[in-house]
Amino acid sequence: EKAEWAKLKTAASVTADGKHFDVAANIGTPKDLVGANDNGAEAIGLYRTEFLYMDSAELPSEDDQFEAYKEVLEGMKGKPVVVRTMDIGGDKHLPYLPLPEEMNPFLGYRAIRISLDRQDIFRTQLRALLRASAYGKLRIMFPMIATLQEFRQAKGILQEEMAKLKAEGIAYDEQELQVGIMIEIPAAAVLADQFAKEVDFFSIGTNDLIQYTMAADRGNEHVSYLYQPYNPSILRLIKNVIDAAHKEGKWVGMCGEAAGDSTMVPLLLGMGLDEYSMSATSILRVRSLMKHLDTQELQDLVEQATNVSLSNEENEKLVAQFVKEHR
Ligand code: PEP
Ligand code: MG
Repeated sequence: EKAEWAKLKTAASVTADGKHFDVAANIGTPKDLVGANDNGAEAIGLYRTEFLYMDSAELPSEDDQFEAYKEVLEGMKGKPVVVRTMDIGGDKHLPYLPLPEEMNPFLGYRAIRISLDRQDIFRTQLRALLRASAYGKLRIMFPMIATLQEFRQAKGILQEEMAKLKAEGIAYDEQELQVGIMIEIPAAAVLADQFAKEVDFFSIGTNDLIQYTMAADRGNEHVSYLYQPYNPSILRLIKNVIDAAHKEGKWVGMCGEAAGDSTMVPLLLGMGLDEYSMSATSILRVRSLMKHLDTQELQDLVEQATNVSLSNEENEKLVAQFVKEHR
């Protein structure tokens, strides 16, 4: 099996019926590019920029950020790179940015909520990103978006920074730059049809989407039985997001753990998810799995998993049985 995987390093990701999907890598620093390229990532589906902040003794400067983003964009040689703006808060803290004591940090002051409040920090990051966009195919992504108003405000700030750069005569990608959001809060998943009219793309963050939908802390072993990726509620939300995006001609990725999960991938392929972003070490396994699956044959599976009253475990078995029969 490993020998077959090795051959897939330079291959495109195609299904048995010849449909192409992007299998991408999640990265935390420019150093992770090595693994991404070694495993034949067709894109970077999530660059978690918070490590840039966490590995620094003070707020990283615009130039420091620019260098890191440019390195990633150049390293991917024109392949798409989705960069997520700072997702601090929750369990991630910065020594130089005191956050309030909170009863429920995962429901509190984090990610885009901090960025919209601390616009000095946000604008510096956006400027660095825009400058780097001249060196590759950049997609900017906002984390933890709950309302349309948050997205509009964040995009408005981005546009203001674009106008400033333009006035200063500093280059950025005016043609191909895309701006999208993570779908990791149920409110956004439910209103995906409305968001789809205004964003360029979605990336579904199942790690948080599952915890918020099931009201079960993703790191708490006492409620881990409720952390159910294949629960029909989760599958329906995901399907709703994909259908809503496609209706508006937008693309949808997934960058949570589920995107590289062997049970989830067949369901996602059946739903038509466009991009699968995962840790680099999962890429070849998923590409190999895709090769054996026919998207038409998966329609029935999706129908059953979302519409028959099956449990998380029953859905897992259903997919396992299907894959066994078809590969
Ligand atoms: C997610 O929530 O699924 C996600 C990809 O973001 P993170 O794991 O960084 O919260
Ligand atoms: Mg998240």
